[in-house]
Amino acid sequence: MDHFDLCIVGAGVIGIAAAEAMARSKPPSYSILLLEQNSGFGQETSSRNSEVIHAGLYYQQGSLKARLCTEGSALLYDYCRQYNVAHRRVGKFIVAQESELDALQALAARARDNGVLDLRWCDRKALQEKEPLVEASAALFSPNTGIVDSHALMQSLLTQAQLAGVEFVCRTRVERVLCGAHGFEIHTLSGEPDKAEAFRFHCGALINAAGLESQALAARIDGLNSAHIPSLALSKGNYFKLNARAPFKHLIYPMPAPQTSGLGIHACIDLGGAVRFGPDIEAIETVDYKVDVRRKAQFVEAIRRYYPALDPAQLEPDYAGVRPKLYSAQGQAMDFVLQTDDVHGVPGLLQLFGIESPGLTASLAIGKTIAQHLA
Ligand SMILES: Cc1cc2nc3c(=O)[nH]c(=O)nc-3n(C[C@H](O)[C@H](O)[C@H](O)COP(=O)(O)OP(=O)(O)OC[C@H]3O[C@@H](n4cnc5c(N)ncnc54)[C@H](O)[C@@H]3O)c2cc1C
Repeated sequence: MDHFDLCIVGAGVIGIAAAEAMARSKPPSYSILLLEQNSGFGQETSSRNSEVIHAGLYYQQGSLKARLCTEGSALLYDYCRQYNVAHRRVGKFIVAQESELDALQALAARARDNGVLDLRWCDRKALQEKEPLVEASAALFSPNTGIVDSHALMQSLLTQAQLAGVEFVCRTRVERVLCGAHGFEIHTLSGEPDKAEAFRFHCGALINAAGLESQALAARIDGLNSAHIPSLALSKGNYFKLNARAPFKHLIYPMPAPQTSGLGIHACIDLGGAVRFGPDIEAIETVDYKVDVRRKAQFVEAIRRYYPALDPAQLEPDYAGVRPKLYSAQGQAMDFVLQTDDVHGVPGLLQLFGIESPGLTASLAIGKTIAQHLA
């Protein structure tokens, strides 16, 4: 049977970043296989997001999201500069209406606790000088928030990983894993669904970076206690694009609505200058990326709170992504989970659950953490 030192399941930005970091930290003789069930890398959540490099203001102090976001953002800007990955430190305004000013102050304090010290408070006049079409009582400006071409980032990381010896195989789905005394026996199906071929091989270590399917894959690992698999809640985020010249120069975020775990329907500018709004929050049972045009009325209402001049005729359904959310028994949104053998007791198995936003920003810091753990 073929043997690899490490197998990584899932070529989204997290699996690819883990492969690149592992390849860099190990000698060339250490063999790494990166498997993806789709026809190419990054076709799920990693290409269905806002492509924002977050500054790390929102997350609970001391959480993995807070730590890996700030560390990841610095690593990502450095990486993009070094490898010429398209990105722009465009800056963002978080805008608050009169009734939200206390919440804006609280957000500024949380950001300070997280070590984000460059936020600037803007009154209505200062905001309107920068963004004349935005209506709000005050705003926080985050100069370190940016945008990145997520496809180019993944392509670049994958190229670096492959140059360092990582073998990348797509159209190969991991069906079943057997845990043994010296590693794992991996069973896969490769090729088109109607004529897929079964293979099996052995690996010494295994990373489950299957994104929306991390729980499903974990459930097919014979020898893993299912008590260690956190429940998954699928939360769809829809986007609508603006068919008009960009009305803003910066990213515009409303205050996150209390009792929800999203950041609010914000305005993103992509590297081509196009504007899209989203994502909203829609609880779903199965993954489905179609955007329902009937959601437009809610978008118009939310956007007009900070951009009253919006012409609804210029708003069209765009794309959707799905967040792999984790909730506590009390219904609180949970932190990222990087689960190692000290939790589940299976040596060599590392599992990632709940890698929702800011996972793209945190990807290089997650890769680095994984490489340190499997050193
Ligand atoms: C609406 C939305 C907006 C977001 N906005 C931002 C943002 O602006 N900034 C930010 O930092 N983050 C953002 N995120 C979060 C970010 O997109 C994710 O954290 C990140 O893309 C997760 O990457 P991943 O590699 O874990 O998952 P994925 O990209 O889903 O990759 C997992 C891969 O595993 C493969 N796979 C699954 N099962 C198997 C199997 N059995 N065998 C082989 N392959 C398998 C899948 O096909 C998939 O390609 C957003 C997320 C959403 C949903």
